[in-house]
Amino acid sequence: MRVVLVGPPGAGKGTQAQFIASHLSIPKISTGDIFRANVSGGTELGKLAKEYMDRGDLVPDEVTVAMVRDRLSHDDAQEGFLLDGFPRNVPQAEVLKKMLAEFGTSLDVVLNLVVDDDEVVRRLAGRRTCRSCGKVWHVLFDPPAVEGVCDACGGELFQRDDDREETIRHRLEVYQEQTAPLISFYADEGIVQGVDATGPVEEVTQRAMAALRRFAE
Ligand code: ADP
Ligand code: ADP
Repeated sequence: MRVVLVGPPGAGKGTQAQFIASHLSIPKISTGDIFRANVSGGTELGKLAKEYMDRGDLVPDEVTVAMVRDRLSHDDAQEGFLLDGFPRNVPQAEVLKKMLAEFGTSLDVVLNLVVDDDEVVRRLAGRRTCRSCGKVWHVLFDPPAVEGVCDACGGELFQRDDDREETIRHRLEVYQEQTAPLISFYADEGIVQGVDATGPVEEVTQRAMAALRRFAE
């Protein structure tokens, strides 16, 4: 299955992506994670991306698209994938469509995680990310057993530079202006499923899996 997850920053895309991808046995491909790995690794791509990420702006399309093209050509993505954070605007969606057409395929479903702005701010303000394995925690909603330490791998938890209040506000504007129009783009193709992303993580996963099953039938 070829799935795209969309939703505002903090909607729970990364959190849900790991469960959905594992249920479907497909790779989770997160452009934010790939960029952050390049930033920590000090690569040229990372240096370029960091400037945009710190401001809460989108990394230029040609850079992002080349990175996704490369990732989608790997063996593990040939039978399906879950894209988290890509596409992020209509031009990226158009390129993705062409890219998949070159491979002789197309997207099956776009899951739209729906939460309001207040909840997004609460989620982003308390988000903590593991420096070693990338797993995401929340200081109130999903705290690790020991503060600042990842339960999964023992790594150090940190707060993302772009989860500061003024950057969060800008990212929400970028979402409204550039990413939200994707919903009608994909609605025109008849492949959008809205998922209520409020409530406990497991319930959101169940709703997402139910929506995917409706599409698989
Ligand atoms: P969140 O899940 O909080 O929205 P992500 O981890 O998906 O954040 O993305 C973090 C940052 O990485 C974005 O603000 C942007 O700068 C960059 N980024 C991620 N995906 C894309 C993309 N598809 N196009 C352009 N920039 C991207
Ligand atoms: P996104 O990838 O969409 O930016 P994340 O998956 O990183 O979102 O989640 C943002 C924050 O919200 C994280 O701290 C995560 O632990 C928390 N979170 C995710 N889903 C829920 C939920 N259903 N209820 C409460 N907090 C959640």
